[in-house]
Amino acid sequence: MNKGRSRGGKGRARGAAGVSASAAVPVDAPFQKNEEVTVDIIGLTHDGEGVGRADGFTLFIQGALPGERVRAKVMKVKKQYGYARLEELVLKSPSRIEPPCDIYKECGGCQLQHFDYPAQLEWKRQHVVDNLVRIGKLHVAGEGSLADGKSVSEGIIVHPTVGMDEPWRYRNKASVPIGVSAHDGQLIAGFYARGSHRIIDMDDCLIEHEHNDEVIRVVKRISRELGASPYDEQSGRGVLRHVMARTGVVTGEIMVVLVTNGKKLPQAEQWVKRIREELPGVKSIVQNVNERNTNVIFGDETLVLWGSEVIYDELDGIRFAISARSFYQVNPMQTVELYRKAVEYAGLTGTETVIDAYCGIGTISLFLARQAGRVYGVEIVPEAIEDAARNAALNGISNASFEAGPAEVVIPRWRKEGIKADVIVVDPPRKGCDPALLETILAMQPERVVYVSCNPSTLARDLRVLEDGGYRTDEVVPVDMFPWTVHVECVVRLTREG
Ligand code: SAH
Repeated sequence: MNKGRSRGGKGRARGAAGVSASAAVPVDAPFQKNEEVTVDIIGLTHDGEGVGRADGFTLFIQGALPGERVRAKVMKVKKQYGYARLEELVLKSPSRIEPPCDIYKECGGCQLQHFDYPAQLEWKRQHVVDNLVRIGKLHVAGEGSLADGKSVSEGIIVHPTVGMDEPWRYRNKASVPIGVSAHDGQLIAGFYARGSHRIIDMDDCLIEHEHNDEVIRVVKRISRELGASPYDEQSGRGVLRHVMARTGVVTGEIMVVLVTNGKKLPQAEQWVKRIREELPGVKSIVQNVNERNTNVIFGDETLVLWGSEVIYDELDGIRFAISARSFYQVNPMQTVELYRKAVEYAGLTGTETVIDAYCGIGTISLFLARQAGRVYGVEIVPEAIEDAARNAALNGISNASFEAGPAEVVIPRWRKEGIKADVIVVDPPRKGCDPALLETILAMQPERVVYVSCNPSTLARDLRVLEDGGYRTDEVVPVDMFPWTVHVECVVRLTREG
């Protein structure tokens, strides 16, 4: 039965078309909660949920893949969409694989372990294309016929996603919350369950470097043996909040960070002694103090408990010092691919002035400096800028300088001071570029803009602004920095028109 599907306000009159007045189910929905449905899956959301269409209604079904037909139980119904739980695969996708991880179903870390790798790469490219078209209103070559007279072959070239030959054990950083098991009260550490703050205990994560898994296991063991008290989010009591492990994949150096609620870490000497005994590769043991009741992992104060304040790693022959709170790309192998592409798109001949906005510890800046006249990097975290300056010196690079502050404030000031960029590289966090920064780029008129993005939707939004300001988006390369997750990174080249 078609239950009162008329659109607009009238169709929502209470008690319409057989829906009882007390039911919370919207009258437009063709399904009731707990109903069993069979649906065809036509796509994946940006979160990796299957998108099913049935009776003109959209159902999101975790675990279902495009091309599949599934039987599912409706769990939640909204006006135009709902959520259902996968019950049975009626028709299975040829791209479906058995997830190799034991805790995949519960853990929120990966979303696509049931989707084979080539299909994942293809989906990531299409996800980028869809964002460029829908949000950016951009023309992508090969995407249907275009209303405004452009041919299918015209438009932005979106290359195939650059994947990994061996897409496991790629992460150089693990950061996991510490808590208490609901079963037996034991101290546990792992990832949050999908969409919640329940900790799933984890001993072996297949996308982590083995060193990092080892750090987590060792820290858990020491915590239990020393009787450390895990932090409790609800009450705000307890000491140990998070453990972060970072490995320099080329150098083998390891950093261990214990995030504590308060400055006091009981038995700190014991901690240092035990960690050093059990992890011979460790170069840095650091405590970070976070007393706030927040989701943000790190607090402002960082104390070195033992060893160096930084560890070192190398990318493409450039050495980097990395401190606890600095951003450093988590997949070093793919990072080299990403940065090489960014340098290629910058089109440098050795004389250009380049600005690297959101530069972190100066990684892209130093790649650029090898081929540019002069590079200016800007970044909001002061420690990262200290690392960046140190990294330039460490590599004998003298044509790069760095300043701490918001890119949207510092770059306009540079412009007033007479700095004129031939190329601007931006690599913002997920929320994209600040509008004031985009405005400054348009005012500065560099010949090329290279946009490195970890979020296709804010990328598409920002590209629209740059296009409207006289830039043309030429090429996009998606790079798979995060296999088995829904995340996709892109490098984009824009050229000034005319
Ligand atoms: N390009 C670097 C870092 C990219 S991550 C790399 O590849 O390693 C994005 C960076 O932007 C982070 O280091 C973050 O601290 C910084 N950031 C966030 N908001 C900022 C702002 N408004 N101005 C400058 N930097 C900012």
